[in-house]
Amino acid sequence: MRQTRTKTIQEEIVVCDRCHREMDPGNRDFEYQERTAIRFRGGYGSVFGDGNLVEADICQNCLQEVFGKYLRITEDDPFDPKHQLSDDADKAYQEYQLQQILSTENFLKNFREAIQTKQQEN
Ligand SMILES: [Zn+2]
Repeated sequence: MRQTRTKTIQEEIVVCDRCHREMDPGNRDFEYQERTAIRFRGGYGSVFGDGNLVEADICQNCLQEVFGKYLRITEDDPFDPKHQLSDDADKAYQEYQLQQILSTENFLKNFREAIQTKQQEN
């Protein structure tokens, strides 16, 4: 006997915080690949509050719409860049950059905790 059953699949997507566009990492979605993730902690004197975590996921369309006129866009070959990124560009990331940063932050946090534990033992 053939029957049908309902299968529920739960998957993680990213939603643009401005326009609520869904960006699917598993769908070879250029929107997901081109999104910009903002994630930083406000420093002393920050307009966002000292120590507060500031985060946003913004699709490329909203980035262009909101910041387009302020962005400096230079034609360049990513495999042979004539223009190097300055060190100041450290608070807005695309997905692949964000994963590396989160991994590094997590490693450093674990490392610090391990050192503290070791120091408390002595
Ligand atoms: Zn958007």
